[in-house]
Amino acid sequence: MTTTTAEPRSTEPRTAPATTAELRSADLERRIAQDPAGFRVLTGDRPTGALHLGHYFGSLRNRVRLQDLGVDVIVLIPDYQVITDRDTAERLGEYTDGLLLDYLALGIDPARSTVFTHSAVPALNQLMLPFLSLVSVAELNRNPTVKDEVAHSRQSTVSGLMLTYPVHQAADILSCKGDVVPVGLDQLPHLELTRTIARRFNERYGKLFPEPEALLSAAPLLLGTDGTKMSKSRANSIPLSATADETARLLKGATTDADRHITYDPDTRPNVASLVLLAALCLERDPHEVAAEIGDGGAAALKRTVTDAVNSHLERFRARRAEYAKDLTYVRSVLRAGNERANALAEATLDEVREAMGAFR
Ligand code: ATP
Ligand code: MG
Repeated sequence: MTTTTAEPRSTEPRTAPATTAELRSADLERRIAQDPAGFRVLTGDRPTGALHLGHYFGSLRNRVRLQDLGVDVIVLIPDYQVITDRDTAERLGEYTDGLLLDYLALGIDPARSTVFTHSAVPALNQLMLPFLSLVSVAELNRNPTVKDEVAHSRQSTVSGLMLTYPVHQAADILSCKGDVVPVGLDQLPHLELTRTIARRFNERYGKLFPEPEALLSAAPLLLGTDGTKMSKSRANSIPLSATADETARLLKGATTDADRHITYDPDTRPNVASLVLLAALCLERDPHEVAAEIGDGGAAALKRTVTDAVNSHLERFRARRAEYAKDLTYVRSVLRAGNERANALAEATLDEVREAMGAFR
């Protein structure tokens, strides 16, 4: 394994001082570069719809990059979490196939990385029991991401599973002792609770778990076409699997603002800035420069630039995805193999947990 001391990659110039989370993420990036094989990634995407550009720039691209650096990357499709905020797991098989196609087409390599669904890993789910005992109801009630997801959910009441979603996520991450979690900003409160659970378990029963850290990208909160967080379930996303024409149509409908002069100013013009950033990330250019070039061209020119940039950036991905789609038998076999490995890891962790607790033999 070759190691590198390269500086962490950042394609986004800062317009504001870095937050604590960003500083911690940059420090983590440095440590990974020094010893990639010493880290394990656990992260994933709910099979609630098609993956979108927010996933790609927020997390997926980092996963592939880390895999290629030599980090052990484990990607979870948290299928039970689909029923946190909806009555049925409708179209679960179709969405799971779609996620697998996206991962493979983006470069997740099953020879080096693992993809699994947590409903296939009973030991992982069993970890929720001791973990639930380590958190208070008040802590769960305070979680801002849960509050936000409740606000956007299709349900009038909050299910127990929704409230305990972050604990389930702790079980996901700690079942394989993941220590790096490439996520978007919305996941930071969840990850904080995972760290709390790991710490409390270690204090109470002896050190067993790492305290996983968030790895943020240059686009930790990409906005959707309506100006709120791009989300699978908010009808505001640009799916990676959309055709070039669909992508153009969706971007055309994106919310902008009344100022015709295009600038990159995330604080005062979040909608325009998110589009500029999208183009800049695809073109690997500075967003200020991209905005300056569009200048007085207005929203129409901005949207044309973004559409061209996204479509050419995704061209190779789309071709690879279409190839994989011809062989779903292979695609599903990747998940079966991943489930086997995840079971072995989670069973070993559960054994250690029981041993540490000195009970439940
Ligand atoms: P849902 O609407 O079903 O909750 P979602 O679009 O929020 O779907 P998730 O499966 O909840 O997607 O999130 C998967 C990962 O992608 C998480 O790490 C999350 O932080 C990241 N992510 C999701 N949306 C964005 C976004 N708009 N910008 C950056 N990262 C994102
Ligand atoms: Mg979400």
